[in-house]
Parts: sequence; structure tokens; C-alpha cells
Amino acid sequence: MIYFKTYEQRKVKEFQVDIESVCIILLTKKSDFKNEFLFLKKINMTISRRKFIKTAAISAAGITLIPNMNAQIGIESEKEKLKRQAAKIHNRILTLDSHCDTPLSIMYDKIDMGTRNDVYKTGSKIDFPRMKEGGLDASFFAVFISQGKRDAESNTKAKESAFAIFSAINNQLKKYPKLAEIAIVPDDAYRIQKSGKRAIYIGIENGYAIGSEISNIEEFYTLGARYITLCHSKNNDICDSSTDENGPEHNGLSTFGEKVVIEMNRLGMMVDVSHISDKSFYDVIKLSKFPVIASHSSARAICNHPRNFDDAMLKTIADNGGVIQLCVLNSYIKAQAPNAERDLAQKALREKYNNVDDMSPEQKAQRMKEWRQIKIDYPEEMATVSDAIDHIDHMVKIAGIDHVGIGTDFDGGGGITGFFDISQACNITYELVKRNYSAKDIEKIWSGNFMRVFKQVQGITQ
Ligand SMILES: [Zn+2]
Repeated sequence: MIYFKTYEQRKVKEFQVDIESVCIILLTKKSDFKNEFLFLKKINMTISRRKFIKTAAISAAGITLIPNMNAQIGIESEKEKLKRQAAKIHNRILTLDSHCDTPLSIMYDKIDMGTRNDVYKTGSKIDFPRMKEGGLDASFFAVFISQGKRDAESNTKAKESAFAIFSAINNQLKKYPKLAEIAIVPDDAYRIQKSGKRAIYIGIENGYAIGSEISNIEEFYTLGARYITLCHSKNNDICDSSTDENGPEHNGLSTFGEKVVIEMNRLGMMVDVSHISDKSFYDVIKLSKFPVIASHSSARAICNHPRNFDDAMLKTIADNGGVIQLCVLNSYIKAQAPNAERDLAQKALREKYNNVDDMSPEQKAQRMKEWRQIKIDYPEEMATVSDAIDHIDHMVKIAGIDHVGIGTDFDGGGGITGFFDISQACNITYELVKRNYSAKDIEKIWSGNFMRVFKQVQGITQ
């Protein structure tokens, strides 16, 4: 802890901060990222050189040390050292989030991707400025279609909704060509990272978007979609879901689902096994010519939830050469004590808005707002970054370091203490550094493993 005086509008303020906060204060004075990082490095260096602090850096930043506290400077705590190491690794490697539902916030909450939104005021967890702030280079924006009726008319509607979401993503990218760019092939992320922009890939969450028409897969592939999550929280024509309250319908992957997997293999599209039932998972593994991804799932041994993978599945995904991407949705990270009132409120909301297919965008926005309010009224016990990395530790122990990654599920329910929005992405790296993961391992977790599968599926040999 160190003491500073700042001079703002001729008023002198005294306050007590830790070194990390000082860096943040100083960073707000800079706009260019490269400069920010250099400046951060410089400040860290100066902290260990007392004389230099007193003169150049501090005076340049308009901050004066209170003389009698100088003695406290010069000792870099272990935590600060690890933070500095983490920031260095985090800024050097490619960081990729394999799943977020941010297009929902664009569509229904009218969140602007070029604006820095306040998560506590808007509920929004990702925009381009916060991606930059959190050092997140690349992200898969999900075209999410919630499961509705499975007749011809509803299938057409689902496909149209998917098209509208593609347009919404593309409109935001067109609006901010200096901040982000569409990414299609694996190498795009590295190229776009070098240009200082955010790389935005597209995935489809819920194969319901293709209805019962195989040719729709190629149509979505042409639009840039590079994975399809086969189902969502309910069974569909492709397979059984891990969370359908009516239980299995096809005993895993359906006959149509088999055709879907074969077509995705042919096109070079990643098969996403998150959300699908255990039996569906094993059916896909048996059939797929290429390794699969679980774009946002965690470990069942650490938090017993059907959305998470048990140890046998973790071993299977390793044998398959695939990858499981840690999902930071609170109730998948930390088991929650039963809360009957919350369950009732959620049930009532589901009944109130039971026909998502026929809802207007305004009604969908209202539904999301009420869903968030329930979370505020009946708060969950929040998981921490340390709890989340317990899942990584376990998945690495069972599946190995080459088969684990990160898929936040931000804007689709993701968010824990310390990683509540994307601006806090470096906290994940910090915890990994703290637990002695090497820079090489951290790079594998943040992007290397996922990119390996992406390349294999696209027929690119390394
Ligand atoms: Zn999901």
C-alpha cells in the first residue's frame, strides 16, 4: 500500500491505493494501447527504483508522493510481481473466447459495440472497448436461436431469425472498421491481432437454425459460421439435450443428426458438443471424422451439473483430439444451494413468456430484463476466478494440457466474481500464473488448443 497526492482542478486529494490501481489511474490518461503497455512496464520498473519514481515518472503523471511514505516504495510484493508476469504473457499471446452471446445484447438491448458499456447499468459484458481493455483478441459471437416448435413454419422463422442476427453482427463490424474485423479462417485472428483490432468469428448456437434442411448448413457456412452447437437446452431434430426436462427423445444423435455431423465434417465446420446429452456426445465422437469442440462447458467432478463433462467424457475428448472450453456461468462453476423462491420465479417467467417464437424483439428484450431482475432479487452464491481455475486444474489433470480452453458464455449467463465482464480477462491469466502454469501452457489454454482443432477441421495441416 502506498500514499499519493493528486492535483485535480486545483484541489489536493490524498488517498491510499495499491500499486495496481495506480497503474490503472495512469492508464486512463493514455489512449494508445501500445503506449499504455509500455507505460505500465515503465511504472512497474520505477516502483523498484525509488529515486526514479520521485522524479520523472511520478511528476510526469501529475502525482506526488507524500515524502514520509517513500520508504514503502521499492518493494514489489509477490502479488504485484505475478500480476506483472501475467500482464506480460496476456498481452503477448493470442487470447480467444470461443463462446459469447453478445449478439443477443446487440439485438435486444441495442448495445453498441463501439461504446464502453457499464456492466452494472446495462447488463452487457462484451463490447469492443472492453475487449481491448481486457486484452481479449478474438471472440466467437454466437448466433443463438432459442428452441421453439419444430414444424415447417417455425423452422423457417428460426432460419430468418438467424439471418437477422448475422446482419446485426455485420452491421456493428461495418460501423467500427477501426475497432474490429470479421474473422473466417484460423490465421485471421493472428493477422487481426497484429493490426490492434478485435477478431470476431461467428458460431451458431443451436442447430435448430438449420431446421430439417441439410443444405442450410452450407448456407450458414458461406455467411461465415465456423461452428454449430448441435442443440440448446431442449431436444431438437438433431439430438437430445443434456437439460431437456422431458428426457431423451432420440437416444442420442438422430438419423438426421448423423447427416448433420457428416455435412459439417465435409464443409470444415467445427461440431460443438456443448449442451448435448452424454449419449449424444458419444454418438458424435464415434461418427465425426475430426476432433470436436465443447465451446462452453466445465467439469462435472467440480460442479455436478448435466451441462458439465464428467471425467470419462473429458478423457474421451482428449482421445478424440478435441478441446473443452471452460464456461464461466456461475451455476456451472459453483454448485448452488437450492432456492425454491428463485425456482418459482424463474418457472413463472418461463410460463409468462412461453412462446419465444412469436415474441417481438421488444418482448424478448423485456423477458431478458425480467430474467436479470430475478438474478438480482434472488442472488446466487457467486463463484470466484479461483473456483473457475479449479475446473481448469481438474480438466487439465484428466484430459491433459492440450485439450482445455476458455469459452465465457458472457451475455448468455456467464460471469463470476473477478471475471464479471470481458474487461477482467487478465484475472484468468493471473490465476493461472499464480498456479504455476507456464507461458506456453497459458497460450495453449487461451487459444492454441482451440486453434489446433479449428485448423484440423478446416483441413489445414500444421
Ligand atoms: Zn449455451
